[in-house]
Amino acid sequence: MKYVIIGGDAAGMSAAMQITRKDPYADIVTLEKGGIYSYGQCGLPYVIGGLIESTDKLIARSAETFRERYAIDARVHHEVTKVDPVKKTVSGVQTLTGESFSIDYDKLLIATGASPYMPSWKGINKHNSYCLKTIPDAKRLQEVIEQGIRHVTIVGGGYIGLEMAENLKRRNIKVRMIQRSDYVANMFDKDMAMHIHEEAKKHDIELILNENVTEVKGKDRATAIVTDKNEYPTDLVLVSVGVRPNTGFLIDTGIELKQNGAILVNEYLETSLEDIYAAGDCATHYHIVKKQQDYIPLGTTANKQGRLAGMNMIGKKRTFKGITGTSILQFMDVSAAITGLSEKAAKELEIPYQCVQIQSKDHAGYYPGASPLHIKLIYQKEDFLLLGAQIIGEKGVDKRIDVLSTALFHEMSIEDLEDLDLSYAPPFNGVWDPLQQAARRVSN
Ligand SMILES: Cc1cc2nc3c(=O)[nH]c(=O)nc-3n(C[C@H](O)[C@H](O)[C@H](O)COP(=O)(O)OP(=O)(O)OC[C@H]3O[C@@H](n4cnc5c(N)ncnc54)[C@H](O)[C@@H]3O)c2cc1C
Repeated sequence: MKYVIIGGDAAGMSAAMQITRKDPYADIVTLEKGGIYSYGQCGLPYVIGGLIESTDKLIARSAETFRERYAIDARVHHEVTKVDPVKKTVSGVQTLTGESFSIDYDKLLIATGASPYMPSWKGINKHNSYCLKTIPDAKRLQEVIEQGIRHVTIVGGGYIGLEMAENLKRRNIKVRMIQRSDYVANMFDKDMAMHIHEEAKKHDIELILNENVTEVKGKDRATAIVTDKNEYPTDLVLVSVGVRPNTGFLIDTGIELKQNGAILVNEYLETSLEDIYAAGDCATHYHIVKKQQDYIPLGTTANKQGRLAGMNMIGKKRTFKGITGTSILQFMDVSAAITGLSEKAAKELEIPYQCVQIQSKDHAGYYPGASPLHIKLIYQKEDFLLLGAQIIGEKGVDKRIDVLSTALFHEMSIEDLEDLDLSYAPPFNGVWDPLQQAARRVSN
């Protein structure tokens, strides 16, 4: 059996490793258009901030390792430009030599990820505006920062924008964030995101809200950024306004895509075409709470979907159960996490809901070092089924959001949360965990 995998990162190589582990004699070819395999993109902001010494630390396994230790034919600089589902071939170009190639497959996995969206503002070019997705992107940014950049404007207040703001501050660079809506971190509800605004203010990060960027000034290096309301001087523009699935090369295959270009997959990670699978940032992700296909591109999901796609490709049927939409972010002194539906999302889906919000402490108030924890739970009005949660605080955010994600996975109600047996000793918690305090507020 010949397995071909397009994309040599999280989803693609998780699949390749499953196939080779379960079938050591499998013929596996992986095609990667870049020069680097399997690396942790999530660590890139911290390399730029100087917390991690080099991008080399982020590489889990090199192409040579895949070839020599796992007998995977891991090719670099191989960009796939066409898939023929009738002849069962993929073809493309070796980007260094310009030579074309064509390879046949029995089973194909598309794991091509997503690319940062670069808007077509007036004056924008590759010298005055940057994005962060790959190791070469990070190196370019590092290089220009080392030339003495003093001020950066980040366009987009999502996860990557906020993580970059923190890491640029770590290097004593002044940071401005421009967001076209009225608050940053808008995966959260506005009332919760206000804690992030406070944090930005505390650390002298300038937030420009409700403004649309229209132009970048400066040819070889940015000198200013222009919005529909103002012009702001700056030394560097970092664009972080979302990603688009890398699926353009599939347009004439007849493969079914979601409106945003993500490949529609079923629970076995199969696409609408026979023997073609998809996983990771280029595919859809079934959302357990929404009960529909969604698109939340994250490393956790890419690894999981890739692993399961690999199993299914070799005939070991395993379903992808779905995501609850859980994510976490560190921003300066706080962590902010979300799982399930925000209030905004519940409204959009027209689900009758209610919310409870509390401020508690991450551990017993009398034990030194307790810090505030802001919790918001969203639940279904009629039966108190948990729909989602948001938590922001200095400590203890991660463990609580994971409890709540597990609760969503098992369709638990607010009352079920009260019944959980959660760990307690004064340095770790109160006798009633803050999320149980929130649940009790509802039943009271
Ligand atoms: C700065 C940053 C921080 C992040 N932080 C987090 C985090 O904290 N937590 C989290 O869960 N996620 C995080 N993510 C997201 C996470 O990195 C991605 O979800 C994950 O890398 C997706 O894996 P993937 O394999 O689907 O796609 P990718 O990692 O994008 O890999 C796809 C590969 O396919 C290759 N490719 C594309 N098109 C072709 C083609 N036509 N032919 C051949 N090869 C092709 C690409 O070169 C790429 O190497 C972060 C991402 C970034 C950029």
